Amino acid sequence: MCGIIGFIGETIKGTVITDALKKLEYRGYDSWGTAFLSENKIEFFKQTGQINGIPEKIKKINSSLAIGHTRWATHGKISKVNAHPHVSVNNDLALVHNGIIENFSELKEKLSDKNFFSETDSEVILKLIEEKVNSGKSLFNAVSESVSLLKGSFALLVFSSKEKDKLIAVKHESPLLLGITEKGIFAASDQIPLSNFTNQFVFLEDGDIALIEKNNFKVFDFSLNEIKREIIKVESEITSSGKLKYSHFMLKEIMEQPFVLKSVLSQEEKNFNEISSLIKDSNLFFIGNGTSFNAGLFGKEFFSRIAGINPQVIEASEFPYVLDFIPENSVIFALSQSGETADVLDSVKKAKKKNLKIISMVNVFNSSLARLSDKVIYLNCGEEIGVASTKAFTSQVSLLYLLANSVKGNFNKALNELNELSFKMTEVIELNKNSVKELSHKIKSSKDVFFIGRSLNYGVALEASLKLKEISYIHAEAFQAGSLKHGPLALISDNVPVVVIAPKDKVFSDTLNNAIQAKARGAFIIGVSDENNNEFDFFIKLPKVNELLFPLISIIPLQLLAFHTAVFLERNPDKPKNLAKSVTVK
Ligand code: GLU
Repeated sequence: MCGIIGFIGETIKGTVITDALKKLEYRGYDSWGTAFLSENKIEFFKQTGQINGIPEKIKKINSSLAIGHTRWATHGKISKVNAHPHVSVNNDLALVHNGIIENFSELKEKLSDKNFFSETDSEVILKLIEEKVNSGKSLFNAVSESVSLLKGSFALLVFSSKEKDKLIAVKHESPLLLGITEKGIFAASDQIPLSNFTNQFVFLEDGDIALIEKNNFKVFDFSLNEIKREIIKVESEITSSGKLKYSHFMLKEIMEQPFVLKSVLSQEEKNFNEISSLIKDSNLFFIGNGTSFNAGLFGKEFFSRIAGINPQVIEASEFPYVLDFIPENSVIFALSQSGETADVLDSVKKAKKKNLKIISMVNVFNSSLARLSDKVIYLNCGEEIGVASTKAFTSQVSLLYLLANSVKGNFNKALNELNELSFKMTEVIELNKNSVKELSHKIKSSKDVFFIGRSLNYGVALEASLKLKEISYIHAEAFQAGSLKHGPLALISDNVPVVVIAPKDKVFSDTLNNAIQAKARGAFIIGVSDENNNEFDFFIKLPKVNELLFPLISIIPLQLLAFHTAVFLERNPDKPKNLAKSVTVK
């Protein structure tokens, strides 16, 4: 959600900044902009929509000090003036901001100059800095005094044409890191746009102000005490960050799941053992949002069925409201692909204040969540660029299975099972890739699509319906199969697709009965099973596997179904409207 990039160093081309912004696109945005120091003046450019074709003006610029931003509007409509960077009246200061300033209207009241160009909360920060600079303060002092007044979340980059050897970066509850290169220093929301330039990063912490110069940087807290921040070398990503031969990142990420699972499983047994002893006798709470919440549901099932622990799963945005009622020996298990999800971070910070132990499962190395945690399990599934999570989901579920087994002392047994499963995943893709594309043709004109499952497979229904709605914009909903008759059956009419996730297990016949009830009212039944049945109007064929692992294979054709439906409807699955990959606002 929103991306920031900045650079100070040797002269670079303007397109270095726009190329980096393009690599931040996956985070989701509605407008973008850049500001460059060019011949001692600030040149800026803003645009609504996507970065399609780089403007000539930017192609011609060479600069040693620059910032860029992709905006996901929170305050003020999507427009050119509201896009960042915001530039001061005298054209000597430029600022980009990610986050929300909660007290922006109070601060606005106190400012002497109330003439704002934009409707954003962000411009108030610029005005505060401008007022202080105009009263004779240095840029650094003006920024540090201003940020002490802010409430909310902010990652900021600021520079002045009058102090052209400095770029100032501030981080508070929004992601920001520095990338160190021989030619200068970058600041960015994450590591992805910098992967071609460096693998040396400085992970700023909340409350850090970095004073960055061409060849060095210093970090201070808001009271201007200097703080040591290490430069950390990050080993390169496992999978290529390009789309390779695929039309979309999402398709690539679905197809690479069997291969990725192998690297996901390269986990240290010692880490799993340590985490297992931490959670063995605890009250365990899984927290997450969206797909990570759904993964948590599988965590709950695995831990209760395999390890005899009965965890709760709570949507991270709701967790602060139950925190007062949870026992002291609770362990919080936070799930987030990016490790930057605002609701998860907020819950974890509040849990830490109560001295609760934090375990997290994240994909992005050294992300904010990882740093807040007592113990971390990394997904190791490579960059996930598609906004709709696919391979991160199967990685989370696999590792939760491994962990539940590890609590019972069966780490290696589960590891072997999961390794075997990677072959089944390949089989699932081969069996279904063409037929599911045909099926998507059929459902693309449906107003509603329903997904049903029982027990573990209700979680699959939830995740599959989330995939379909988020990228195709078709109304999709999941129900526990048995609950259909208590209300949802009223929604069924002729040809409404009902996807029935039903392996041939001990609840199969109950689920099939629910499908028959829907069929009697006109539903078009899509069976997802390891055995065909006459009641299925369409069959998604899966191999037989351990019933606890069935979700890991059944979700794959349903991810493909969502993908192809979106593509048939000419909706970009990599960048669904209104959504962002890393949801860094609450
Ligand atoms: N709140 C700011 C705005 O609406 C920043 C949003 C963002 O993080 O992109 O402009």
